[in-house]
Amino acid sequence: MKIILFGPPGAGKGTQASLIQKNYNIPHLSTGQIFREAIGNETELGKKVKSILDSGDLVPDQTVVDLVAEEIMKDQYAKGYILDGFPRTVAQAEAFDEILANQNDALDAFIFLKVPEEELVKRILSREDGRTDDTEEGVKKRLAVYYKETRPVKEYYEENGTVYEVDGTGSIDEIFSRIQSVLDN
Ligand code: ADP
Repeated sequence: MKIILFGPPGAGKGTQASLIQKNYNIPHLSTGQIFREAIGNETELGKKVKSILDSGDLVPDQTVVDLVAEEIMKDQYAKGYILDGFPRTVAQAEAFDEILANQNDALDAFIFLKVPEEELVKRILSREDGRTDDTEEGVKKRLAVYYKETRPVKEYYEENGTVYEVDGTGSIDEIFSRIQSVLDN
């Protein structure tokens, strides 16, 4: 199964993706996590993207698309994956469609986790993993980038497929059972 888990920063994509991974045995592929690991390991990629992540901007489309294209070829993703943090621009969505089409493949579900903005800011600022981009200023910047660059991706999938909108408020378990009812149907 190939799933895109979509939503604003702080919507809980990472948390829900881990639960999907555990319960459905589908690997979680988070571009943000890959970038943070690359930065931690001081790889070439990490050096290239560090200042971008710190500023809350987006990594260039080509860099992300190349990375995802390479990643999904790995054996561990042969049966599917949950994409978290990608596609984040309409250009990335178009590139991803092309990758899938070339593999004669298609997306199974695009899930939009819907959370009100006040709740997003609150959640991110109380996050325990203490990411360096999780400052009040950083959050505002990422939300602005989300509304400008990323939110149109949802409209793109509404025009080209089906978007499952899931209420992203409530307890982690409540949200997960809403996602389960989408995936089980
Ligand atoms: P959040 O869930 O808070 O939005 P992520 O872990 O998804 O955080 O991403 C962290 C940062 O990594 C983003 O602010 C951005 O700089 C970079 N990034 C992750 N995925 C992408 C992508 N698909 N395109 C461009 N930049 C990305």
